[in-house]
Amino acid sequence: ERMRLDGKVAYVTGAGQGIGRAFAHALGEAGAKVAVVDLDKARAEAVTTELTLKGINAISIIADISKSDDVQKMIDNIVSKWGAIHIACNNAGINMNSASEDTSLEEWDQTFNVNLRGTFMCCQAAGRVMLKQGYGKIINTASMASLIVPHPQKQLSYNASKAGVVKLTQTLGTEWIDRGVRVNCISPGIVDTPLIHSENLRPLVKRWLSDIPAGRLAQVTDLQAAVVYLASDASDYMTGHNLVIEGGQSLW
Ligand code: NAD
Repeated sequence: ERMRLDGKVAYVTGAGQGIGRAFAHALGEAGAKVAVVDLDKARAEAVTTELTLKGINAISIIADISKSDDVQKMIDNIVSKWGAIHIACNNAGINMNSASEDTSLEEWDQTFNVNLRGTFMCCQAAGRVMLKQGYGKIINTASMASLIVPHPQKQLSYNASKAGVVKLTQTLGTEWIDRGVRVNCISPGIVDTPLIHSENLRPLVKRWLSDIPAGRLAQVTDLQAAVVYLASDASDYMTGHNLVIEGGQSLW
């Protein structure tokens, strides 16, 4: 079965809840060992326990992926524990929400430090291990907002950072494929996770719902097969790709 991940070593950042948590479960169920990475210790440990109870080989790693030391320690920890990294899911991201004319440099920098600079540092640190191995699958979490501007506006730094994640993915995906490392990204539409129930975003959800041809928000389960596919040998001919899963929203 080309979609099985037995014997593979994976990590997922932002795996303490939401999409990352669902990715960690899906990769583990497909046979991978999973490092559950989050800056929130309690969340990371809770998800690690969930995986362990399912019989999945899992560890938690507490790391802030916007800090280069944390990123390198995360990679070193995984390699010293399991001897390799085959699957890197760079999923952690944040979404702040202010009108463009009110977007502070702090908000801009914080968003870019996590979403784009953090994703770059993870890709580079994991990529160095994978290039040495001559094998690796990197899966970044971008967003439908990399393609369209979802109504209503007020997502300037977020949208720009996620467009950056797609270009990062395309560039690395073409640069590294001849050395066995594929880099792709998943762009979810509006997914029912704790993020969209935050104070900032909750008021927007109703409006967004009317923009989705599928007539409902995405559930994290709508994304799980995609991450397993991109992590598996079945997707070996795909690289630099942006896999959009949004119930048709980007077409309306
Ligand atoms: P979430 O806020 O529910 O969960 C994110 C997790 O990441 C949290 O556990 C948080 O502690 C962790 N995290 C945040 N910053 C971190 C950092 N610097 N280092 C390590 N961990 C960190 O978010 P989610 O909805 O599951 O989103 C996950 C990813 O998917 C993000 O990149 C987000 O932008 C993207 N995304 C989400 C949606 C959506 O509608 N929910 C849509 C498109 C893309």
